[in-house]
Amino acid sequence: MDKLKILLTVCCSFLLIFPQTFFSRTKTLPEKSAQNQTADLLIVGGTVVTMDKDRRVIEDGAIAVRGGEIIRVGKRAELTKNIRAKQTIDAQGKKIIPGLVNAHTHIPMSLFRGIADDLDLQEWLTKFIFPAEAKNVTEDFVRVGTRLGLAEMIRGGTTTYADMYYFEDAVADETFKAGVRGVLGETIIQFPVPDNKTPADSLIYTEKYINKWKNNALIIPALAPHAPYTLSTEDLLKVKNLADKLNATVLIHVAETRTEVNDIIKQYGARPVEYLEKIGFLNDRVIAAHTVHVNDAEIDILKRRGVGAAHCPQSNMKLASGVAPVPAMLKKDFPIGLGTDGAASNNDLSMWEEMDTAAKLHKVFSGDPKVLSAFEAFEMATIRGARALHLEKLIGSIETGKRADIVIVDADELSQTPFYNIYSSLVYATKAHHVRHVIINGKVIMRDRRLLTLNENAIKKDANLYRQKIINSLLEN
Ligand SMILES: [Zn+2]
Repeated sequence: MDKLKILLTVCCSFLLIFPQTFFSRTKTLPEKSAQNQTADLLIVGGTVVTMDKDRRVIEDGAIAVRGGEIIRVGKRAELTKNIRAKQTIDAQGKKIIPGLVNAHTHIPMSLFRGIADDLDLQEWLTKFIFPAEAKNVTEDFVRVGTRLGLAEMIRGGTTTYADMYYFEDAVADETFKAGVRGVLGETIIQFPVPDNKTPADSLIYTEKYINKWKNNALIIPALAPHAPYTLSTEDLLKVKNLADKLNATVLIHVAETRTEVNDIIKQYGARPVEYLEKIGFLNDRVIAAHTVHVNDAEIDILKRRGVGAAHCPQSNMKLASGVAPVPAMLKKDFPIGLGTDGAASNNDLSMWEEMDTAAKLHKVFSGDPKVLSAFEAFEMATIRGARALHLEKLIGSIETGKRADIVIVDADELSQTPFYNIYSSLVYATKAHHVRHVIINGKVIMRDRRLLTLNENAIKKDANLYRQKIINSLLEN
């Protein structure tokens, strides 16, 4: 016992005298002021909206990037004095923001954009989407739809997205080739789907898929159990066990509609989040999409378990699913981001529209215009969205040590003139077509509105070929 005491005393004294030895690895390194640094890319001029912890906005700023990482953020005058770069982007007169984070979508469903509108979720899913998927979804379909969605997202300044679909290995391949960051989940569901006939087959596919991509710089491979109402308890637990074994992220739809809540109560005697908690499904690798019908106690359960959430206002409005209690979640500092959901229920992948809608929907629903500000909506599309995806150490803000996912937007178009407030201008007046340059992981993938990793004309041609195939397949019945 005495020996242990002595050892503890020695350790504690060491920690008191040399705390940096132990803690320096977890601390953000101070920005270097070294002379003559070199960088791969220097962005100069413009207003840098950092979304760092002090939410700094730097006028006439600059950002230096090396090896895909942000190495300096500051004033242009300061950085250009001692940094030499291989490549420079002039952002004068523009806004420089963290890449937008789309926290929930089904990217290949871009090919079903407009196939069936103005229906509720159950009718839309069972009469149109599930049959259309059964007849049309192949690996090639997924690749074509993914490229279409990627092109649209890059044009709109989205640099990271969370996805749930089939043939997710092909989604990952296309995403990586396009240079976009993704948390990409293979869907696991009770009935036979295009790539796997049973949940057991899906789990085999998913394990292989995750092992293949787990060390990739851009792709975070994940499991995507569809929802509590489309998988048995036994299968949900098998998903959880595999996720635990692989230390992998889990994407799931939760409490999207009132019907789901009523069905789960009938079947399990608990509300969806209570049920997931009861079976031990929830942890800090889970991302719950929608969370429309969650009560205060369920929000607390999700928060306690470290679950992230994705709010999809436009999809929820279009399918009349309801309004998620986002203001209450923000009061609890909940890690909730914004998602477009698939293009079939939105019908676009614009995060600018999602921010604008989120800020307005909650005002009209609560009768209080102060309930969700433009600033809070912008946070949800950037740093809070990164927290929702459990990626806040990597992305979501422009600061030293983070990956260089940076978007430069025009700020002098008619709809943005005159300018008074940065977040108001970004959320209420800036649209996807104002995005000029997109950088992901330090690489420029759109320059002056020209996509550098995807062929837009070929994408449109391929998508239109599928349009005809999909129409024919639905006429077969
Ligand atoms: Zn969804």
